[in-house]
Amino acid sequence: MTEYIIVGAGSHGLSLAYHLVKKGFGKNDIVLIEAKRIGYGSSSRNASRYRYHFYSKENIEFALNAIEYLKRQVKELNYNSLLIRTGYLWILENETDYNVFKKLDNLWRTYNIGGKFLECNNYDYLKFDGECYLAPQNGAFHHDYILYSYYYEIKDKISIIFDEVKSLIVNNGKIKGVKLSSGKEVNGKNVIVTAGAWSGIVLSSIGINVPIFPEKKEIYITEPLKYFIEPLIIDSSKQIYFSQTLKGEIIGGIEDKREYKFEEFSISIYNTIKYLKILKNLVKGINGLGIMRGWSGYYEMTPDNSHVMGYSNSWPEGLYIDAGYSGHGMMFAPYSGKIMADLVADNYKNVFIDIFSPSRFELHKLINETLVI
Ligand SMILES: Cc1cc2nc3c(=O)[nH]c(=O)nc-3n(C[C@H](O)[C@H](O)[C@H](O)COP(=O)(O)OP(=O)(O)OC[C@H]3O[C@@H](n4cnc5c(N)ncnc54)[C@H](O)[C@@H]3O)c2cc1C
Repeated sequence: MTEYIIVGAGSHGLSLAYHLVKKGFGKNDIVLIEAKRIGYGSSSRNASRYRYHFYSKENIEFALNAIEYLKRQVKELNYNSLLIRTGYLWILENETDYNVFKKLDNLWRTYNIGGKFLECNNYDYLKFDGECYLAPQNGAFHHDYILYSYYYEIKDKISIIFDEVKSLIVNNGKIKGVKLSSGKEVNGKNVIVTAGAWSGIVLSSIGINVPIFPEKKEIYITEPLKYFIEPLIIDSSKQIYFSQTLKGEIIGGIEDKREYKFEEFSISIYNTIKYLKILKNLVKGINGLGIMRGWSGYYEMTPDNSHVMGYSNSWPEGLYIDAGYSGHGMMFAPYSGKIMADLVADNYKNVFIDIFSPSRFELHKLINETLVI
């Protein structure tokens, strides 16, 4: 019987498989099951940014560990992940934003990640005279190189099945495997659900309710310009974020509060035009600039904007989850894969397993995270 069945080949499923392979497990021990294609979900649809700056202590502490691990991991991986420190720049349009960042900066200083308040016109390309906050520690990478580094490391060392997991199989309080849409059953002692926004559906097949919901998000990318925007710029009042890729394209999105539901992966012309107008009102010298393309993906939303990892004592033995990362799960994938591998293979429980446990929803011990970008 297979030791580990991993459901979903996004960055988290691949990172877990990679870390299990590093522990010596192989083809007979690990089955990775993917419904569509490698990286079909958010792992190939994100903005590839990393940050330490969260609202809650739990997420700040997780990020401090995860980003240090990400930085070490990219040196180990096959492809150059283009990891670069660029900073995040928040435009503080009103007193409320300013006061929130004053309070947060005090908290961030206690973790040695304090930033700097400065006049936005220090950035001569910004059309905004007012206060900004720079968090210089944050940066960017390229998701595809991380994703495919993991894939190429494991593809010949584990079993991979392209099919959809329709339901989990449980017997006498223990996980026994999964049933696929082809009708086939795969037996296994442990099932780890890393199905991103779809994770709640997989667990609901045996009546387990984990609140992970899809929220569709669009991203737009312009034609390339000479590189001039270093940080990721966020303006919460105008509800826009953008930065520049190393190739020179301006990449970003706007807030578009939607109902949590699965929708087709399209982008709306209305939102594209709205984004471009706001961008041009904020950045000098880009009047004739055009959008080249756009795409969409799902943020995997939870009630406290924080991820879910580990297991619940009320679950069948051998069932685990690692999902629900809102809009910040790509940067966490290397570290989460390591933590989950230590848990399922060595029974080693990292301190974050309890903090981000799925039980917190039943126990009403939510994390106070509000800084979603
Ligand atoms: C627009 C956008 C911008 C983002 N920007 C950033 C950013 O700048 N920085 C950052 O760190 N994060 C960012 N994120 C978030 C990040 O992309 C995700 O949190 C992360 O990629 C989640 O990875 P995952 O492996 O958990 O899920 P996914 O990548 O979604 O993978 C899940 C996989 O499971 C498969 N699957 C689903 N159901 C089944 C089933 N029943 N059987 C088998 N397989 C199944 C899917 O096909 C998919 O391949 C962004 C996300 C979006 C949408």
